[in-house]
Amino acid sequence: MIYGIENVRIDYWPLPYKVKALYMCDDGDCSVAVQRRLPNEPKLFALIHELKHHYRDREALGSGVIHWGDYDANELIEKGAEVFAAEFIYPEVEFCNDIQQAETQTWNAENVVHFKRGCKAKVSYKFICKRLEWLGLIGAGHFDGVQFQKLEYGIFGAPFRR
Ligand SMILES: [Zn+2]
Repeated sequence: MIYGIENVRIDYWPLPYKVKALYMCDDGDCSVAVQRRLPNEPKLFALIHELKHHYRDREALGSGVIHWGDYDANELIEKGAEVFAAEFIYPEVEFCNDIQQAETQTWNAENVVHFKRGCKAKVSYKFICKRLEWLGLIGAGHFDGVQFQKLEYGIFGAPFRR
């Protein structure tokens, strides 16, 4: 995808457990490292997040490294990248439309599972919950501790392993 056009390399090095991905640029040699074991949705999010650093933060960065989650050092840059990735993957306007057209407006855990299953964007449960919070449809931390993936398997069955 865009990574090829921009000549940004994707590496799968072993990263510290807490770092999902990081962006590096040294003398025009740009690369992103991402945790191989991430599920597809957070991996996509991480790659778009790092792409924002490539477009917008490369100069400010010089030849440094930006760590995902290094909020103290780069709070604004990091927040900007989070917002960029969220908008890129699932624009808020579309999300609102989809929410309005959902079968129910009662946002309990089961209905969140149904919404995600019918959702055209590749996003995680965390993503959906954050947006619901942002829109004021649920309180902050409303679904903390809910194991959505488990719940989904409970409702729809676990996928077959091939
Ligand atoms: Zn970042």
